Amino acid sequence: MNKSKGKRPTVSKTKRSPIKKISAKIVKRISTSRDLAPERIAAILKALDEAYPDATCALNHRSPWELLVATILSAQCTDVRVNMVTPELFKRFPTPAAMAKAELPELIEIIRTTGFFNNKAKSIKGAAKKITEQFGGRVPETLAELITVPGAARKTANVVLGVSYGKAEGVVVDTHVFRIAHRLDLTKSDTAEKVEQDLMRILPKDHWIRFSHQVIHHGRQVCIARKPKCDKCNLETLCHSADKTWWS
Ligand code: SF4
Repeated sequence: MNKSKGKRPTVSKTKRSPIKKISAKIVKRISTSRDLAPERIAAILKALDEAYPDATCALNHRSPWELLVATILSAQCTDVRVNMVTPELFKRFPTPAAMAKAELPELIEIIRTTGFFNNKAKSIKGAAKKITEQFGGRVPETLAELITVPGAARKTANVVLGVSYGKAEGVVVDTHVFRIAHRLDLTKSDTAEKVEQDLMRILPKDHWIRFSHQVIHHGRQVCIARKPKCDKCNLETLCHSADKTWWS
């Protein structure tokens, strides 16, 4: 007599549906692989090049030092506002050596309208001192050195390296780049540092500098935070963001 008659055939664990054996992490990686396909990345970069061929930093400056200070002041502040403040600042303190000797109350008075003026005044005075004493008055040209300067974290360092020295050691991730990288499914990461690492992995290095400038322009003009103007966006066919809109 066949003992198995009437019973459901058993399936060994190794023969179960292969999908059940794929971890959630791998499923996520598979599901995003199409988003990160080289052809799609190339199409996004081409669209950005077409829309913003001359995108560059909007902070007015005449030297790496002025750009460093302007970038520190731009935290939580518009570039337009920073550009209103820096002419007077650099008129009174034209060099790192001069700013290193500035009195904090005087610095605060000049930069007050950029917000967070106490911390920013300490940062730019500290940066001036460091650059004067340790770098001979010249803004360093490497990421490793720049991030030792007070007020200059990776984002600021990447701005200065890219704009002033044409060096791509990273990708600038500000609020616009962070938001749009997510809307375009270029990253799932939750910190600026991790988003930068993701972008460095998927973008060709010769796009690292201009990608950020282009995306920042796109974020200000079209892909705005609260209500993106998707009907005016030349990336629309490449974008599957859940908060796309069809009117503006
Ligand atoms: S389609 Fe809309 S959400 Fe997507 S990138 Fe363009 S403006 Fe932003």
